[in-house]
Amino acid sequence: MQYVNSLLDLIGNTPLVRLSRTLDLPDGGADAPLVLAKVEYLNPGGSVKDRIASRMIEAAEASGELQPGGTIVEPTSGNTGVGLAMVAQQKGYKCVFVCPDKVSEDKRNVLKAYGAEVVVCPTAVAPEHPDSYYNVSDRLSKEPGAWKPDQYSNPHNPRSHYETTGPEIWEQTEGKITHFVTGMGTGGTISGVGRYLKEQAALAGTDVQVIGADPAGSVYSGGSGRPYLVEGVGEDFWPETYDRSVADRVIEVSDADSFSFTRRLAREEAMLVGGSAGMAAYAARQVAHELAAEGRSDAVVVVLLPDSGRGYLTKVFNDEWLGQYGFATGAQADHRTVGEV
Ligand code: PMP
Repeated sequence: MQYVNSLLDLIGNTPLVRLSRTLDLPDGGADAPLVLAKVEYLNPGGSVKDRIASRMIEAAEASGELQPGGTIVEPTSGNTGVGLAMVAQQKGYKCVFVCPDKVSEDKRNVLKAYGAEVVVCPTAVAPEHPDSYYNVSDRLSKEPGAWKPDQYSNPHNPRSHYETTGPEIWEQTEGKITHFVTGMGTGGTISGVGRYLKEQAALAGTDVQVIGADPAGSVYSGGSGRPYLVEGVGEDFWPETYDRSVADRVIEVSDADSFSFTRRLAREEAMLVGGSAGMAAYAARQVAHELAAEGRSDAVVVVLLPDSGRGYLTKVFNDEWLGQYGFATGAQADHRTVGEV
């Protein structure tokens, strides 16, 4: 019989899938670099964040910060929340997520479905107000038995990528990877994967270029945090989990390009992914074009796709929402033909 004892045994070991049509390379890419997508939405909680959730919880168990029957408190409503809720439920911990009232009901309901508690705080109060998002999460995390993972400062966030995502990519490409492209939120992915790949390449006497993709306006590409719409990536501050020495280069991608490419991935590669995946894949496509122009048909580009498009059906995949912000919609968003972009 083939089975696992828990869904947690299925975290990681995601496949690499070759991108083809959306790259728009000359001659169908015959003499062009290989571009491989690391499909992280195939993790059991639906995103790359399952990896950090399980690693941060294991480390807190080992250090004694998280005791049996304890409560995990984190101010998140996104993929990290789902990962933590899933791992917590399997291991018998309680979970409390604090989120501002602007977070959609759908997102809150996903967390509740796993058995987590969601505390909603008003956006319209000052940070020093007792009901503010910051104060409520601080108060809850100081209660007896509570533990706050804090994905923005927890070293086990990048470490999970150094120990799993990085080695998987190195082995799956048999050490032939030459370029790694990923978006940056906490910076955990790029820091952990990037460091592992660079170390391995140095040992093998080769080189891996580590390339960050970033929404225009975010600090990673020299901005001040000006608003952008793509979710999960870009910051207005420098997180502790981001290792500034790892990225060789950062490619800035506009919301418009991120969203239209996200739609193309669904239409042309059958990959229903989120906007941050579209952003990273758009940057990888640019890298592939540069390499093709240099005749680098030996290059192997790996791009990480963090989550599924299911969570964005009312946004990126909704023409009214896109139209409201002046982005290409309908036929334009979906039917761009090869060479047009
Ligand atoms: N994309 C999405 C959808 C995410 O939720 C995140 C995590 N914030 C990222 C990309 C970026 O990953 P990291 O935090 O490891 O930089």
